[in-house]
Amino acid sequence: MVVKKTGILGGGQLGRMLAQAGHPMGLEFIFLDPAEDACAAEFGDHLHAGWDDEEALAELGQRSDVVTFDFENVPESSASLIESLCPVYPPPIALFTSQDRMREKSLMQELDIPVAPFYPVSSRPELMAAVEQMGLPCVLKTRRFGYDGKGQMVLRLQEDLERAWQQLGDQELICEGFVPFDAECSIIAARGRDGSTVFWPLTLNLHRDGVLAISMAPVFDEKMQARAEVLIQRLLDHLDYTGVMALELFLKGGELLANEFAPRVHNSGHWTIDGALTSQFENHLRAICGLPLGDTACRSKSMMFNLLGKFPAAADQSSAAGSWQGEVYWHDYHKTAREGRKIGHVTVTAQSDTGLRAKAAQLAAELGVAAEINLENILLSLDRVRG
Ligand code: AMP
Repeated sequence: MVVKKTGILGGGQLGRMLAQAGHPMGLEFIFLDPAEDACAAEFGDHLHAGWDDEEALAELGQRSDVVTFDFENVPESSASLIESLCPVYPPPIALFTSQDRMREKSLMQELDIPVAPFYPVSSRPELMAAVEQMGLPCVLKTRRFGYDGKGQMVLRLQEDLERAWQQLGDQELICEGFVPFDAECSIIAARGRDGSTVFWPLTLNLHRDGVLAISMAPVFDEKMQARAEVLIQRLLDHLDYTGVMALELFLKGGELLANEFAPRVHNSGHWTIDGALTSQFENHLRAICGLPLGDTACRSKSMMFNLLGKFPAAADQSSAAGSWQGEVYWHDYHKTAREGRKIGHVTVTAQSDTGLRAKAAQLAAELGVAAEINLENILLSLDRVRG
């Protein structure tokens, strides 16, 4: 069946960028999102309803040829309800698995994907026992609804245990070994309905206060790329997955350890819009619509900066002055400014490493983040991980 109307559970920036990629493909969009000001609504119809509103879910299923999601905390039951009306991709089981860190880590372990040691924690004695097993430091996280470093605490000293328990102990928790990583990275893949799979280059990620700040690709050698591909392929095949998936990884001493996977397009893949032949957004749509997947090769070297809070003045100045020579791409999600909120991103591209470094340094200075993110250190650590 030819897909015309795509339903999306969620209408945030990911839904918005999916629609921006889908319009040139002739697709139309309908979003279900409880937020009145869902920023994707500019690009399609908006069903303003809760995730559990059965009438609205049925309307989304009836009016769509295929349904996907841009948010992993959509209840799995909502996705399954729609499945009786029209195909839902990625499969709701992927949503179900990724929504609980315990389930997610257990599956990865089962599939021989290396992860830090982990224990479920639902009482003080269980927390003490887990810490005893792993030693300090370790990381205590909520099993559900954690994102961008929220709902987690690093335990460094024995006295941190009680403080962490006071703060998080009213929920089901997981205690993980602390990984003193050399770098964080992510592999993003798209798997078609027929099982064919494509991968973008393993991306280097830098976080600030638990939130992604910068992504950069391509960075790693073929060997590391192949290792990451093997790991994500195990998840994709096991879940009989359709669509884009991101697997977040720690790099430690040349080895990759998985942290978590996202059953959707991912912030660390935004650079693909401007830096790859086919973006993660286009390939997600291609996959769920049953179309052949596009080429994921890089057009150039890319560095993406997340824009938090409010859209920077640098964006206007640079376009007005033309000082960026067309290799700086600003993306404004048209969201209301709010402290710490992801309101846009900007990607710099260049053909050479030196060109990218120069532009990225200039951009970091203009954005006023040069000191905080210390680009020079990042680039030095990059040289180290490239080894
Ligand atoms: P998460 O919500 O699991 O993606 O964690 C957010 C960030 O916290 C990660 O990107 C890491 O920077 C850090 N982090 C999470 N888990 C660990 C861990 N086990 N060891 C070290 N750092 C971690």
